[in-house]
Amino acid sequence: MVKKVDHIGIAVKDLATTLKIYETLGLKALETEVVEDQKVKVAFLPVGDSEVELLESTAPDGPIAKYIERNGEGIQHIAFRVENLEQRLAELKEKGVRLIDEKPRRGAGGANIAFLHPKSTFGVLIELCERD
Ligand code: ZN
Repeated sequence: MVKKVDHIGIAVKDLATTLKIYETLGLKALETEVVEDQKVKVAFLPVGDSEVELLESTAPDGPIAKYIERNGEGIQHIAFRVENLEQRLAELKEKGVRLIDEKPRRGAGGANIAFLHPKSTFGVLIELCERD
C-alpha cells in the first residue's frame, strides 16, 4: 500500500533561518508556498527520491504553532506515498484505524493528503499523500 517515504515534515519557527542549515547540507528549497487552511508556509527540499518539508506557522493559533508550543521545533510528521488515497482511507477506517481526515484534502504542491491519528500509530503523526 505504501510506495515510499514521500517526505518528512519538520516544524520550524523561522523558515528563512532554518533553510540556511539545510543549504549548508547541500539541499535546496524548490519554492515556498502558503497553505491557507493549515496556516502554514512550507518549503520542500528534495533529498534523492524523497523530500524534507519545512513548516512555519503563519498564525499563533495554527497547528504548527501549537505543535511547537507543546514539543518545540523538530520532526512533526512522516508522509507515505500511496495510490488511491480515498480507498486506502476507507480500508484503514474499516480496520479500526483512527483518522484525522476521513476524506483526502488538498495539501502543498497540489498533493491529496490525509492524516492518521497519532493515537492509532503509537505517537507518530502519519500523513498519507497521493500525487499525480
Ligand atoms: Zn507533509
